[in-house]
Amino acid sequence: MADRGDMDDTLMRVHTNPRTLGTARERIALVTEAARRAGSYAANAPHRPVYPGREAIEALTAFDRPLPETGSPAREVLAELDAFGSPATVVSNGGRYFGFVNGGTDPAAQAAAILAGAWDQNAATPVMSPVADRLQAVTGQWILDALALPSYARVAFTTGASEANLTVFLAARDALYARQGWDVGLHGLAGAPALRVVVGEQAHASALRALRLAGFGAAQIERVPVDAQGAIDADAFPLVDSSTLVVLQAGNVNSGASDPFARIIPAAREAGAWVHVDGAFGLWAAASPSLAHLVDGVQLADSWATDAHKWLNSPYDSGILAVRDPEALERAMAMDSTYLPAGLGAAMGAGIRMSQSARAVPVWAMLASHGREGLAELVDRTCALAARMQSRLVEAGAIALNDVVLNQALVAFPSASGEPDDAMTDAVIARFQDDGIGWAGGTTWHGGRAMRLSVSDAATTEDDVDAVSAAIVAAWEAVR
Ligand SMILES: *Cc1c(COP(=O)(O)O)cnc(C)c1O
Repeated sequence: MADRGDMDDTLMRVHTNPRTLGTARERIALVTEAARRAGSYAANAPHRPVYPGREAIEALTAFDRPLPETGSPAREVLAELDAFGSPATVVSNGGRYFGFVNGGTDPAAQAAAILAGAWDQNAATPVMSPVADRLQAVTGQWILDALALPSYARVAFTTGASEANLTVFLAARDALYARQGWDVGLHGLAGAPALRVVVGEQAHASALRALRLAGFGAAQIERVPVDAQGAIDADAFPLVDSSTLVVLQAGNVNSGASDPFARIIPAAREAGAWVHVDGAFGLWAAASPSLAHLVDGVQLADSWATDAHKWLNSPYDSGILAVRDPEALERAMAMDSTYLPAGLGAAMGAGIRMSQSARAVPVWAMLASHGREGLAELVDRTCALAARMQSRLVEAGAIALNDVVLNQALVAFPSASGEPDDAMTDAVIARFQDDGIGWAGGTTWHGGRAMRLSVSDAATTEDDVDAVSAAIVAAWEAVR
């Protein structure tokens, strides 16, 4: 295939301001140098300490200086950034980082982000960037296809699941008020009829914050009891109506468990409620034929939020929302402008941002390079690695705290009596983090302390899991 984007630099015009822009040759050399450093960083990720050492963190004081009066050549700026910045990174993409649900770095997505950075497109409307607009549309369809969501749903790219949740809550709120005969756009929230919000007891903290930002106070929110894995108990789910926003979850951030969608969603929607699913990572179970049963019925909801920067290993920050009724979203996000051609399908008409980067581009590259099979393989493999991690630790005497159904494993460490011991668990986590061989954080689970291990980096191998589980066991032996 002819590479029409890659022009010979000798054909390019020379910029007249060599100080800031440089000649064409210098520009190519600079960006190539940045890409070379990026490639070197990525290739060496497995050999770096997972968490930067004290020296690297202290060296960051190199950045502590006032705004310079005069600038420096871009090459030197880049070299300084690499020299002091790269060693002080947390290496979440070298295969041995199991913290939070922080994804690794997909090679195709990273490379696409480098090129898209050079494009510097404003993806707000088609007229600002035909390529961003087309790739948003295509990637949106691919995501709906991969997740088996309705093909007519409106997809938009966001900074993360937090923004995706918030955006959808605003659309759902306006739609639910409209069902009560109340026009929020005209009358605002004061004096509006009451809406109900129903969430699981283990809804993600960021979803609760998004609800608050959308105008739903804590006292308004009905919390439904959950089972031992943190999934909503369908038998305890209340009767809802057309004034109710239901927020379900695919993938509990600690256990990976999903709410029983098939048992809840049909009746709730039949009653006129708006059902949203926060599936920041867990929604991707739907992309695996062997795991899709975990989120059975999730496709029946009104809206979904998920992330590309977690399990898809796309670069930060990258989230996705999908709404079954495109007009409900576009009505809530509408604005009048004399100079901005919103146009049907414009990204700025489906979210709270106007100017925005072309976040779909790296996601497109990731999906193009993996395909349906590669995506399923990524999901399956990371889940199997999470199970392997928990097994290794349990074989050594740790206590399993969750059923590993997805890519999340929870363990506690016992005291001499064999009971889970909060102080011991925290001590093991701290010691393991200090050792720099891997990284995992802690959480509170059913009132006790737990180590949580999330396999969200496609680079992780069985060897990584074996080495890291051995290091955790060594940390336990050291603090015992
Ligand atoms: C991570 C997460 C969020 C927040 O997503 P961000 O992309 O970090 O904003 C929301 N819900 C769940 C279940 C999550 O795991």
